[in-house]
Amino acid sequence: MMRYISTRGQAPALTFLEAMMTGLARDGGLYVPEVVPHVSPAGMAGLSYEETAFRVMWPFLGGVFGEDEFRGLIAKAYAGFGHAARAPLVQLGPNHFLLELFHGPTLAFKDFAMQLIGQMMQAALAKSGKRITIVGATSGDTGSAAMEAFRGLANVDLFILYPHGRVSEVQRRQMTTPVEANVHAIAVDGDFDDAQARVKDMFNDLAFRDEVRLAGVNSINWARVLAQVVYYFYAGVALGAPGRAVSFTVPTGNFGDIFAGYIARSMGLPIEKLVIATNQNDILDRALRTGRYQMDGVKPSISPSMDIQVSSNFERVLFDAYGRDGKAVAALMGELASGGFAISQGALGMLREAFASGRCSEAETSAKMARVYAATGEVLCPHSAVGVKVAEDHLGSTPMITLATAHPAKFPDAVEAAVGVRPALPARMADLFARKERVTRSANDLKSLQALVRERIAR
Ligand SMILES: *Cc1c(COP(=O)(O)O)cnc(C)c1O
Repeated sequence: MMRYISTRGQAPALTFLEAMMTGLARDGGLYVPEVVPHVSPAGMAGLSYEETAFRVMWPFLGGVFGEDEFRGLIAKAYAGFGHAARAPLVQLGPNHFLLELFHGPTLAFKDFAMQLIGQMMQAALAKSGKRITIVGATSGDTGSAAMEAFRGLANVDLFILYPHGRVSEVQRRQMTTPVEANVHAIAVDGDFDDAQARVKDMFNDLAFRDEVRLAGVNSINWARVLAQVVYYFYAGVALGAPGRAVSFTVPTGNFGDIFAGYIARSMGLPIEKLVIATNQNDILDRALRTGRYQMDGVKPSISPSMDIQVSSNFERVLFDAYGRDGKAVAALMGELASGGFAISQGALGMLREAFASGRCSEAETSAKMARVYAATGEVLCPHSAVGVKVAEDHLGSTPMITLATAHPAKFPDAVEAAVGVRPALPARMADLFARKERVTRSANDLKSLQALVRERIAR
């Protein structure tokens, strides 16, 4: 039986379903598989994205769904994608490929995990007859992906809190235009940290948490990481794995996406380099270079989905780097609360073995968008441009695959400023600006937000 354990060692081991529904462990840690199963990429060449997804994820589920049932959930999750390949590869140059992860309904890679989590949660809840209330905070992409994934699902109410006036117009409209009654966009008077703090307050109010059956889908949810492992296999196999190794460069914020690559390698996909690409918020690049994981404030950038102070999922790889010693990880996280910590020599050696890293400044990001457009005609979003810049510093004889994490039309101002062309939305969502918006404005106040949730949920 596949079990999941906490990175801080003090919470009970859970099944896949429990880990997905719980999100954060009760000891403050993150759930990871007790043992990572081996899955051979041999024989996967030419399979559809959906069948690849089935084979890669099945061993992690511990039988929570039947085989045909799980295939059905996968099919539904990806049916709304705007590209038959789901995650097509485009060649950028000699030995350098772009994995386009932006053909989902909200044009960012988060759709891959969120769409599937929506289907899995709904299927499990329908069996148990239970309802849940999901509350999440977003700086943009997670919220829109969640609204799309959960709208219309019968056993879930979803509330997304975003900072009023501080998300892009496309992101806002993706959150405020779904018409289904079970999804609710809440514009909070405050910044992203305020919205996130109110969500944490709701989880810490245990009576409220039980009353509305609160659940979370933020990026520390193990099921999200698992769904992202699939496209590493899909792309790696397309370029010759297992016969030939591949490398990946990943535009990184919370470390969820690149951690999925680390899991793919642990499962048996031959990945040579796994490169962390950061923007000017470079805590991860600094940590690998200096050995110190040190907070440094958030500097707003043109790649806003990577503007983070600390990377929550980094805790998962620290757990491995410290020999799966939950007490050691808990101690480090305690130190982090007061600013930062030094990574031990042994752990740093393991991390440097597993990952390479690089950082891309604001000017370099814009220059890269312009240069790639001029050379290939490919319009990159700013996050993907950060990836391409850092990848180019790590090219070698192994094929390099850079993850393109969002569609350029999601960040039209930064793209137009850099390349001189305003990227258009794909035809299937060209009417986004004509759709009616529905949003509730709220004070940055726990009691008002809780009242709003109570009033809106179906019981
Ligand atoms: C979320 C996001 C990222 C960062 O992904 P992590 O899993 O947090 O590292 C990068 N680019 C885009 C467009 C995103 O939405």
